[in-house]
Amino acid sequence: MDLHINSICVQGGYTPGNGEPRQVPIIQSTTFKYATSEDMGKLFDLEASGYFYSRLQNPTCDTVAAKICQLEGGSAAMLTSSGQAASFYSIFNIASCGDHVVSSSTIYGGTYNLFAVTMKRMGIEFTFVEPDCTEEELAAAFRPNTKAVFGETIANPALAVLDIEKFAKAAHDHGVPLIIDNTFATPVNCRPIEWGADIVIHSTTKYMDGHGSAVGGAIVDSGHFDWTKYPDKFPGLCTPDESYHGVVYTERFGLAGAYITKATAQLMRDFGSIQSPQNAYLLNLGLESLHVRMKRHCENGQAVAEYLQNHPKVAWVTYSGLPGDKYHALARKYLPNGGCGVVSFGVKGGRKAAETFMKHLKLAAIETHVADARTCCLHPASATHRQMNDEELAAAGVSPDLVRFSCGLEDSRDLIADIAQALDAVAVG
Ligand SMILES: *Cc1c(COP(=O)(O)O)cnc(C)c1O
Repeated sequence: MDLHINSICVQGGYTPGNGEPRQVPIIQSTTFKYATSEDMGKLFDLEASGYFYSRLQNPTCDTVAAKICQLEGGSAAMLTSSGQAASFYSIFNIASCGDHVVSSSTIYGGTYNLFAVTMKRMGIEFTFVEPDCTEEELAAAFRPNTKAVFGETIANPALAVLDIEKFAKAAHDHGVPLIIDNTFATPVNCRPIEWGADIVIHSTTKYMDGHGSAVGGAIVDSGHFDWTKYPDKFPGLCTPDESYHGVVYTERFGLAGAYITKATAQLMRDFGSIQSPQNAYLLNLGLESLHVRMKRHCENGQAVAEYLQNHPKVAWVTYSGLPGDKYHALARKYLPNGGCGVVSFGVKGGRKAAETFMKHLKLAAIETHVADARTCCLHPASATHRQMNDEELAAAGVSPDLVRFSCGLEDSRDLIADIAQALDAVAVG
C-alpha cells in the first residue's frame, strides 16, 4: 500500500505479524545463533542475508532504517552512530586517497572540519563552492578525480536553501552522485531524491529524534545513480572486493543495494560506527511524531522570524519563510510546506550584543544542540564554529553577530516574550 509521508512516520518500516509486539522490539543482542558453520559462512560470503554481529547490522537498527528509507523514497538505508559518521561514510564509501569532492561552503561546522581537516589528512581533497554560485562557477570546481558533490538542503546555521536541481545537474554532468544532508528540512518538508539527489544523509540527533535523547545518523541511497557507467571512477562498487571473496557489489546487489551493502560490509565492519538498538528505538519514537512536530516547529519559526524582523534592536533576520529573505524563492520551490524551526539573526551591536542577549534568555536554553522539542539558542562564532577564522566564517555564512535560535514546540507567544525581554537588556547603539 502506497502511504502518505504522515503515515510512513507512524507505521513505516515495521509490520508485526500475528501476535507479535506492536512496538518495534529492541534486539539487545550483540550476536546471533546458527545451527551450522555453513549457515554462518554464507553470511560472511554475503551469499545469504542475516545477522551475525551487531557491529555490522542489528535488526532494530534495520527496522528503523527501513522507515527512514521509505520516508526519503530510497532503495536502501542504514543507521550510523552519529550524523558525523553518516557524512564520513557517505563519502568514504566512494572516495579514497587521491580523490576529490565538491562541497557547498555553507555546511555544518562539524562537517566542514571533517572535510577540510580530517579527510584531507586521509588524502581526500575538497573544493568548497558558494551555494549561490553560477552553473559555470560550479562546473569549474570539478576535477578529473572528483567523486561526489555534497550540500545541505537547509544549511546549519547559515540557513541557505540549496538549489538541489542545480547541484544535481552539475554532479550528473560530471558523472558523480549528489549527496544531500537533509537534517534540517527532514523528509517531511523536502525529499531531495525527488529533485535529483542520489544519496541522502541525516543527523537523526536533530528533528528526527527531536527530543534530545539519542545521537544518531542515517544514510539513504536512492538506487538511481548508475555506478556501472563509470567503473574506472568507482572501482569499489564495480570491481571485485577481495575482502569479501571477490564480490562485485553492483553485480550481486544491483543499483538498489550496492552502495549501502558496501558501506555496511566494509565501513561498518572496519570502523564500527553502528547505532545502538536502544538509540534506534528512541529514534523511532521520535519519527512517529515527526510530521506533527515539524509543522509546529515551522509555525513557531515563522512567528519568531516575523517578530524579530520588526524589532528595532535586530540588525537582520535569516528565515526562508520571510518573503524578503534571500532564499525565499528557493524555499517556495523546495520547501513549500515550511523549512524548519531554526531562525538566524544578528543583534545590533555585534558580538557583544549577541552575548548579552543570550545571557538574558529565560525559556530558551544555551545549548550546542539544535532542532529539539525545547527551544535552544547558540552563538556559533564562540561555539560550534570557533575553530574557523573570520574568512572561513564568512564563507560558511556565519557572521560574528549571528545568533541561531532553534524554536521548539512551546507556545510561540512565550518564545516571543522571552526574546522581547532579552532584547530589552541589550543596550541601544
Ligand atoms: C548536527 C549535524 C550534523 C552532525 O550530526 P551529529 O549527529 O551531531 O554527529 C551533520 N549535519 C547537520 C546539518 C547537523 O545539524
